[in-house]
Amino acid sequence: PIKFNVDDLHRAMDLKDNIRNMSVVGQLGHGKSTLIDSLATAAGIIPCDDDIHMTYTREDEAQRGMTIKSSGISLYYKMTDVALEAFKGERNGNEYLINLIDSPGHVDFSSELTAALRITDGALVVVDCIDGVCIQTRNALRLALGERIPPVLALNKMDRCFLELQVGGEEAYQTFLNVIEEFNEYMKPFEDKVLGDVKVCPTKGNVVFSSGLYGWGFTLSNIAKIYASISGVDESTWMRKLWGENYYDSKTKAWTTKSTGSATCTRGFVKFCYEPIKKVIEAIMNDQKDQLRGMLTQIGVTMNNEEDELMGEALMKCIMQKWLPIATPLLEMMIFHLPSPQTAQRYRVENLYKGPLDDPYATAIRNCDPDGPLMLYVSKMIPTSDDKSRFFALGRVFAGRISAGLNVRIMGSRPSGYVDGEDKDMYVESVERTAICMGKKQETIKDVPCGNTVALFGLDEFITTGSATLTHEKETEAYPICGMKFSVSPVVRVIVQCKVESELPKLLKGLRSLAKSDPLVGYTREESGDYTIGVVGEMNLAICSKDLAEDYMGGVEILVSDPFVSLYETVVEKSSHLVMTKSRNGNNQLFMKARSLDDSLGYAIEIGEVGPFDDPDVRGRILSEEYGLEKYLGKNIWCFGPETNGQNMVVDMCKEDKSLKEIEDYIVAGFQEASKKGALANEPMKCISFEVRDAVLHDDASHLDGSEMVEAAKRAIYASQLTAQPRFMQPYYVVEFQASSEEEVDKSCKLVRKRGGFVHEKKKVNRPGKMVYDIWAYVPVLKSFGFSADLEEATSVKLIPQCVFEFWSVMRSDPLEVGSYAHALMTQIRKRKGLNEQMTPLSDFEDKL
Ligand code: GDP
Ligand code: MG
Repeated sequence: PIKFNVDDLHRAMDLKDNIRNMSVVGQLGHGKSTLIDSLATAAGIIPCDDDIHMTYTREDEAQRGMTIKSSGISLYYKMTDVALEAFKGERNGNEYLINLIDSPGHVDFSSELTAALRITDGALVVVDCIDGVCIQTRNALRLALGERIPPVLALNKMDRCFLELQVGGEEAYQTFLNVIEEFNEYMKPFEDKVLGDVKVCPTKGNVVFSSGLYGWGFTLSNIAKIYASISGVDESTWMRKLWGENYYDSKTKAWTTKSTGSATCTRGFVKFCYEPIKKVIEAIMNDQKDQLRGMLTQIGVTMNNEEDELMGEALMKCIMQKWLPIATPLLEMMIFHLPSPQTAQRYRVENLYKGPLDDPYATAIRNCDPDGPLMLYVSKMIPTSDDKSRFFALGRVFAGRISAGLNVRIMGSRPSGYVDGEDKDMYVESVERTAICMGKKQETIKDVPCGNTVALFGLDEFITTGSATLTHEKETEAYPICGMKFSVSPVVRVIVQCKVESELPKLLKGLRSLAKSDPLVGYTREESGDYTIGVVGEMNLAICSKDLAEDYMGGVEILVSDPFVSLYETVVEKSSHLVMTKSRNGNNQLFMKARSLDDSLGYAIEIGEVGPFDDPDVRGRILSEEYGLEKYLGKNIWCFGPETNGQNMVVDMCKEDKSLKEIEDYIVAGFQEASKKGALANEPMKCISFEVRDAVLHDDASHLDGSEMVEAAKRAIYASQLTAQPRFMQPYYVVEFQASSEEEVDKSCKLVRKRGGFVHEKKKVNRPGKMVYDIWAYVPVLKSFGFSADLEEATSVKLIPQCVFEFWSVMRSDPLEVGSYAHALMTQIRKRKGLNEQMTPLSDFEDKL
């Protein structure tokens, strides 16, 4: 029986203190989708099939048993007065609206996670209580805190302690404690004053112990409430006793803060939380009906005749759900410990809005003002279920109200960013339909006020890269909301071709849809005329190829090449000599050198700490104090590139008195082109500084031709690169996996080395019932294909190994040395790109005096 309808939802949308927008995040397989199902069930929506989660929107999600795309579900609850009694924050009655986003746990889909976090204000981090904090748990925490999203924790799969592993109370406590400590420890470097203390702790009430699969769970406050009601000691006192160093001796009936060593002295958590559950479950599973009856009376669970007939797991599920229904602690935790949009937007506005923080738009976002100007951010485009080539937009209203028929201004976020003041990537279009997400379905709703998530139809043609800011058409002064930063890089590439050449237009259309559906997947047309797409890893590739052919090209057959890897070109030395190029008319000469830029400076440029818009004096100070460069460079940097913000630069190193103003633009233009496609194999450059050492120009300015100078500059850049010991830079994955014996450790470490990687850390960890080895290794992406599958075979652990891009590293091998690994790689890339297999020799770039 569905306990609510669209009208209830619509009404609750205006109660902004009673809304919680929450992403459910964490490692693959730790039980996120299952947990959401149990919340949906509590709201009266019954999942139709055990294997198909409410939030699964695609057939292959059920087949693979994993969430691939983020999807939303909005749930309405009427809370009891008792449940809200202790709530001290603002509220408006007892109706609550919870907008949930389920996110995939596989690292290849972490762009989905970023998109989910952007439009929510809190994160429920789900962690398997036995397997603990894993790679995607950490990833999720880091991303969440970056968006100023506080976490609450679900220590999930508690049933494993009783059914699978028979863990003793004290051991279980230590296991949980370790997980919580690791969780908090990891957050430390990302703490943000504005959010305050984000640490989780059972005594705070922001940790739930749960079994999503069997639908039960508790927070310490639930348990404390029960004991308070029968003991006469108040709830908060109980709560403190139920965690940490508090022991109870059932013989002396005394509490101590140290174990007395007596056999009857037990930790509070074990005695009052863990043991009672253990006893009930054991009685059920051992079929001890008589004992069970007594226990049920004690815990106040009554069963009807039909339920009395149940056995084993079904009986356990039934009893546990009556005793400790999961929805209660989860809902209370969300309401009590996660911010409402009203609260969250007050501090999120600084991170969200690009414009002045005192303009009317910022003010409306800060106040979550439904009567203010519309400010809406679309973070994801989702294919509609009936026509996969059409998309609806999933977004968050931050201010104002959106309704069907409204004409909105769409400010896109192309990779190079929306250029303020320029009319590019901006459209006005009318919203066809507004809706709320209910998993697979979207329920039409006439309008949606700020503080809520929303699905919008009819805008897909104009939101080309998967995200955009929407305002009212007449609000021409509004700045866009900041684009999302993705933590992963699409370093793996494949060529996609149609089997039948005449289908090319369909391929192009399909690629556009693909780019819309996954913001990280870019496509490029190569010199050869082929199209390549970039993906973050093998899993991502499998899903993209499938979607492209089946959904976005209507089943047209495509050919997907073997994967290859994006590289960078860099240098490791200073140019061996001053290179010179002449303009074609021979009248102007340019002298340049290249040298390598420190990695750390490259990173500073990447994250925008050093960039084109810096004050030259400030930049000079940073360059000299932090990177050991000469201070005057701050003023002499002409530009960064490619794309004006890349990690290469051009520096004016001419003698003080010489002005090169008249040719600066030409050199910059030549550099922007050349740095996009290096001399080795047309891969982009990284961490190279090009120094303009001198220029000899004809006295008569009419001998200075712009396009000739750009061409000469380009050759000078290439010649400088080739004389400074050019090298390729290759991406590395970090791989985190587990092994369950020394033998498996050896076997898997061998695999790492075979692939040119290295093991960073091996750690023996004590998990209940077994010993496992956590292994961290780095593997070059170039040699990583098939690695996950090999690892899975070599180890007996269920955990799927996940590869995530971690860093770029310079290859030692010299591409200019015929016969070297890098030379072979270069030839291979050139061949693939349809370039001349032989690299253009240095002599063709340089001129003679
Ligand atoms: P997600 O990847 O985090 O969304 O995880 P799922 O919800 O898809 O669950 C992954 C697997 O773990 C499935 O086989 C579930 O049946 C199982 N699972 C989920 N919750 C629990 C739980 O509370 N206890 C146990 N033992 N298994 C669970
Ligand atoms: Mg899932």
